[in-house]
Amino acid sequence: MTYDYIIIGAGSAGCVLADRLTESGRFKVLLLEAGGSDARFWVQTPLGYGRTFFDPSLNWKYRAEPDPGLSGAADYWPRGKVLGGSSSINAMVFIRGNPADYDDWAAGGNLGWSWNDVLPVFRAIEDNEGGASDFRGVGGKLHVSDVSDQLHPLARLYLKAAREAGLPINPDLNGPTQEGAGLYQLTTKNGQRMSAARAFLRPALRRANLRVETGALATRILVEGPRATGVIYRQKGREVTATAGREIIVAGGSVNSPQLLQLSGIGPAARLRSLGLPVVLENPNVGDHLQDHVGINHTYRSTIPTLNGALRPWWGKLRAGAQYLLLGRGPLSLSLNQAGGFFRTSPDLIRPNMQLYLQTISTLTAGKGSRPLLNPDPFEAFSLGLSNCRPTSRGNIMICSADPTVAPKIVPNAYSTEKDRVEMLAAVKFLRKLADTPSMSSVIAEELRPGPACQSDAELMADIAQRSGTVFHPIGTCRMGPDMGSAVVDARLRVHGIDGLRVIDCSIMPNIISGNTNAAAIMIGAKGADMVLQDSR
Ligand SMILES: Cc1cc2nc3c(=O)[nH]c(=O)nc-3n(C[C@H](O)[C@H](O)[C@H](O)COP(=O)(O)OP(=O)(O)OC[C@H]3O[C@@H](n4cnc5c(N)ncnc54)[C@H](O)[C@@H]3O)c2cc1C
Repeated sequence: MTYDYIIIGAGSAGCVLADRLTESGRFKVLLLEAGGSDARFWVQTPLGYGRTFFDPSLNWKYRAEPDPGLSGAADYWPRGKVLGGSSSINAMVFIRGNPADYDDWAAGGNLGWSWNDVLPVFRAIEDNEGGASDFRGVGGKLHVSDVSDQLHPLARLYLKAAREAGLPINPDLNGPTQEGAGLYQLTTKNGQRMSAARAFLRPALRRANLRVETGALATRILVEGPRATGVIYRQKGREVTATAGREIIVAGGSVNSPQLLQLSGIGPAARLRSLGLPVVLENPNVGDHLQDHVGINHTYRSTIPTLNGALRPWWGKLRAGAQYLLLGRGPLSLSLNQAGGFFRTSPDLIRPNMQLYLQTISTLTAGKGSRPLLNPDPFEAFSLGLSNCRPTSRGNIMICSADPTVAPKIVPNAYSTEKDRVEMLAAVKFLRKLADTPSMSSVIAEELRPGPACQSDAELMADIAQRSGTVFHPIGTCRMGPDMGSAVVDARLRVHGIDGLRVIDCSIMPNIISGNTNAAAIMIGAKGADMVLQDSR
């Protein structure tokens, strides 16, 4: 059980790491994944998203603490617990963020993470169906699909409406500018999900120097003197110890990475001691600085057909199923998010602070704990949604038990700053403006949520608090920064104060990016792998 590298977590970042570290054949690598195989129909089928969203066999199904900013609601936090991690259960929107986000990382003292540094990494990962450009890559392992030939007619109307509302059309939301309304490209290929497992891990599985253990929950990192030397994991009721001659890489994602460090004695000392855990290294930043995007939908009864009518009746399911199985096309091959974009809530801002989503399907009548995208509402409806890009609210994720199977406490503190509340109010007013345009209003029979009675600022704010929720992009809980006083890892993703230990996943982001986080997680995996390999010489 001795390896050169042990990677904990086969998610968006972990799969890239496993691929890159085994590529040369020089190193023996162990990849531990708490979840199981991703060879499941509803994981591979894009619209299976609705099924995997609450499935405990491949989802950690976290529940955040009751949040005052969300009217005291305990928000639901799905995270992938399966090969591919959250990239196996996500909504597949491919967005890299705003170049200035990464320049902010570099300005925070993180050398090597500016936009000019990360753009070549993004381009090398990507196989963009739309072709290469200064901003886009082809020939990489991650296929990105252009599904514009399959869009619902509402998506075209939405683009027209955006223009009427003063938002330019953006032909590529990952191109030279971010602002504008556009169509989303997806991490899919031939109608199937292109998770990090499919893109990076599957091809690497043939290599004799890669061992993948599934159903293997890492419970503690062993540290001897200044150095991390091994990992204890649980598998089929047994405790196994594996040792690493070179490095241990934590890639458990923004909830589990800080949890595992804390369980290993690396974190806020008082809390660890109170739980009876020996303190290996005091660092209060482990689990702190949590940032996440929060979003809300406005939903409308539609005068024209939506996916609700196409998918709800049995004959609709049959047609969509046949279309998918025979041709790899149709609603099952797509994300629920078809179009979207980025806008500014004030002209004074220099970059967009809000992201838009058009969903041509709705599940308002679904019971709690279900998201039946294949059995949507029994009336025609669609949503215009949005989420903030760079919220200033900060939360934390801390263990509340020394038992590794007990979920950590997630405290999001959504909308806990005035700035976040004010910009969200302006943003939902823009949604209303979009809905009121000639193009959009021509297909809206009535606003179902929040509904016409919700008009004043106070009413809109109450609705924001009542109906908002995470859009599943937590970051920052093992954040990168130049010193241990304010960060967990350095710019080479090495844990401050411990040798042979890195964190390489979304949790290292010092500031949240403006947009969905999967592409950035994969970029972090690839760039992190480069650093590990450079340091192996
Ligand atoms: C429902 C949902 C929808 C989303 N939609 C989008 C989208 O449309 N576009 C987009 O860009 N992003 C989206 N995201 C976000 C994106 O998928 C994540 O940011 C990204 O996948 C995170 O990558 P990661 O490597 O940090 O962690 P993950 O991909 O979550 O991987 C962590 C892995 O580590 C494993 N693990 C954790 N702890 C242990 C342990 N102790 N022992 C062993 N294994 C462990 C986990 O099981 C998991 O497989 C979505 C996320 C969710 C949950």
